[in-house]
Amino acid sequence: MSNKQASFHQSVERNFDKAANLLDLPKGLLDQIKAPNAIYQMRYPVKIGNSYQVIEAYRVQHSHHRLPTKGGIRFSHLVNQDEVVALASLMTYKCALVDVPFGGAKGGVKVSPRAYTPEQLERITRRYTVELVRKNFIGPGTDVPAPDYGTGSREMAWILDTYQQLNVGEIDAIACVTGKPVNQNGINGRTEATGRGVFYGLKEALSYADDAKAMGLEPGIEGKTMVIQGLGNVGYYTGIISQEEGGAKVVGVSEIEGTIVNPNGIDIKKLFKYRKDKGTIIGFPGTKKLEVREDWVGIECDILVPAALESQIHKKNAKQVKAKIIAEAANGPVTADAEEILLKKGVVILPDMYLNAGGVTVSYFEWLKNLSHMRFGRMEKRFNASQFTKLVNLVERSTGKSVSSRERTFLTRGGDEIDLVRSGLEETMITAYGQIREIYKRRRKVEDLRTAAFINAINKVASDYTSLGVFP
Ligand code: NAD
Repeated sequence: MSNKQASFHQSVERNFDKAANLLDLPKGLLDQIKAPNAIYQMRYPVKIGNSYQVIEAYRVQHSHHRLPTKGGIRFSHLVNQDEVVALASLMTYKCALVDVPFGGAKGGVKVSPRAYTPEQLERITRRYTVELVRKNFIGPGTDVPAPDYGTGSREMAWILDTYQQLNVGEIDAIACVTGKPVNQNGINGRTEATGRGVFYGLKEALSYADDAKAMGLEPGIEGKTMVIQGLGNVGYYTGIISQEEGGAKVVGVSEIEGTIVNPNGIDIKKLFKYRKDKGTIIGFPGTKKLEVREDWVGIECDILVPAALESQIHKKNAKQVKAKIIAEAANGPVTADAEEILLKKGVVILPDMYLNAGGVTVSYFEWLKNLSHMRFGRMEKRFNASQFTKLVNLVERSTGKSVSSRERTFLTRGGDEIDLVRSGLEETMITAYGQIREIYKRRRKVEDLRTAAFINAINKVASDYTSLGVFP
């Protein structure tokens, strides 16, 4: 291991190579899977105040083996081409892993959203969309963006509106972007999807008693202590869902302004409101501030959840980790060098390409909903409810006992869109974990879950290329 820190992109490529070396696939095929297929780098002017600013932005389509390509758009002052390529490649593997039929892509706009007014951000977003349209880098069948770090449903609504203005009469235009507000052709459950997927993934990983025992833990998520870095979309929903539905205890939170701890638990909903009102998490009742923000890595807990940015756990701080599990809610939060140290320590890493795939999974559901022009559940909800009612009536008649009206309401309800989205997401996370675990347990020389996930993803993409006849 050299003294130089590996970049995020280098880490992703190292992880890819580690898995590829265990596969018997032609070099040319592996090179094709690894290479970014199209990189669009743009510079465009936007009027900010009384002058013009030249905005640097990117869209990378990593793999065209399946179309459309798919991936979020990041707004951050740290955006650069290397980072966007790494993120786009992770999208390819992520989609393959969870059987979402897209190639990977990612967008990046080098701006710090906090430095602009909403009107300025709207101009930046709309002009970015125009640039994408001009080069055919957006469209329901070509490339479908979504939210990522620094963006949300508001930006997706601006993208949709701009695209529609430039493509009047295109019947499927609403499927050009996902993560839209629900009242603008979005889907219920998309906002929370990545965090909910993290929760389902953790729950699944902890459901195997022998695996939990090997980590020195009891099975199940209930009572597990958790530390979260980043209280944005992914960190926030991971925290509240793990607390409210899983019974986990969040004992530490790290944000830009610092890190706070409370071994008795921090109520994430209340903390979020506190931050909204006061502009900081520091001073939240019952918590203590750590002197050094970065020391969140070494807080005593069962599960460490990095949910901010890449390369947060690196070779200089990996030794501090006391957690048994690192749940990679963010993309690339653990560098390849840090991973070597952590695996030696026996820390289990649930890899990003699996654990945060909930966002793209529900984006896929949104895209399907947009193409069908109908919300999920509309056809079957009442039919199912009536069948369930008949079933409950039959049971009551044949047993002579009756259920309470509360039980009846619960048992006879037909599924709404949100129920179906959650069910589809949970199914996706359970199935994908089963496949990764199977490879990890059964294949010789596979030392960790990330390598198992890469093997599964690479094999699926390779099989697509082979069936296309590109690589006989
Ligand atoms: P977000 O912008 O909503 O939130 C990120 C949060 O991290 C912000 O509150 C920010 O202040 C905080 N943060 C930044 N640097 C920090 C630091 N050094 N220490 C502590 N906190 C810090 O972004 P998000 O959408 O939640 O994305 C977070 C991560 O999850 C990214 O890696 C992203 O690529 C990944 N991800 C997001 C989605 C999605 O659907 N939004 C899907 C998959 C993966």
